[in-house]
Amino acid sequence: MRVFSGIQPTGVLHLGNYFGMLRNSVKLQDEGNECFYSIVNLHAITLPQDPEALKKHTLEVAATMLAVGINPEKSVLFVQSDVPESTQLAWILSCLAPFGQMGRMVQFKEKSATDAAASNLGFFSYPVLQAADILLYKADLVPVGRDQAQHLELCRELATKFNTRYGDFFPIPKTIHPKITKVVGLDGSAKMSKSANNYIGITEDRESIWKKLKPAATDPARVTRFDPGNPFICNIYKLHELFSPKNDIEIVIDGCQTAKIGCIDCKQILFEHMDSHLKPIRDRYNEWMSDTKKVEDVLKAGAEKARGIARETLAEVYDLVGFSYTKK
Ligand code: SF4
Repeated sequence: MRVFSGIQPTGVLHLGNYFGMLRNSVKLQDEGNECFYSIVNLHAITLPQDPEALKKHTLEVAATMLAVGINPEKSVLFVQSDVPESTQLAWILSCLAPFGQMGRMVQFKEKSATDAAASNLGFFSYPVLQAADILLYKADLVPVGRDQAQHLELCRELATKFNTRYGDFFPIPKTIHPKITKVVGLDGSAKMSKSANNYIGITEDRESIWKKLKPAATDPARVTRFDPGNPFICNIYKLHELFSPKNDIEIVIDGCQTAKIGCIDCKQILFEHMDSHLKPIRDRYNEWMSDTKKVEDVLKAGAEKARGIARETLAEVYDLVGFSYTKK
């Protein structure tokens, strides 16, 4: 199966990204699929970006993906803007995208209602660019979170419209909603996110992780060390479930319910397991970032592979649409 997935270079990747998209990307790769992973910097500028920060974040996201296990020998890792064919295809698809339907995209409606910076044509039409990326590589499978389901439906509709108008050409991609493990925020909210500043970065150093874990929210019933609590409503316990072995989880449940352990003891247990899980990733990340030329080389090779396929697809699309196009 050919898989396509995009990730935005908008800064630090956190545990939510790790348990959500990244681990699943590695799994799809290791199952033998032909995976295309794009760092979607064209999508990123739909909201204001500092150019230097964007360059830096692009490299950091690439290094993080390599550090968590994306293998450039198996997967194609590249930067979206290195494949200009995606914007060329996006134009053709945008001529098939109904204006009314685009205006009903929930993400656009919600974001542009509260953030004036999101009221721009790029943010309005980026689901078409997303569709172009997927169709350019003739992807069979697109793993996305449920919040992207509407955009993927648009992609399928655009592929169907194109096929109806110009001849059967694009495979209709299937959406898979991988079993995404939801990661709670350190403030106790349901979701870890950068905007809420309640996150732990995948590559964050040991000291910084503890600095964030120590004051993190817990069950409010544990006012003093001697008050029992309910681990099942505590975000720290939910993180234990992701990082700690079964026997320590049992110690935490019992220790919390009977007040045998305090929240700081509980967090220390979590911290050690979390840190030993993240340390190898952090070490690999630091190694990649110590020589960013190597990361750039991976991205360059990835872009060449991606462009090879993109050019072929676009040449055929141009031919079907009636444009003059010369294969390079
Ligand atoms: Fe949460 Fe652990 Fe404190 Fe219980 S002991 S409230 S699980 S941090």
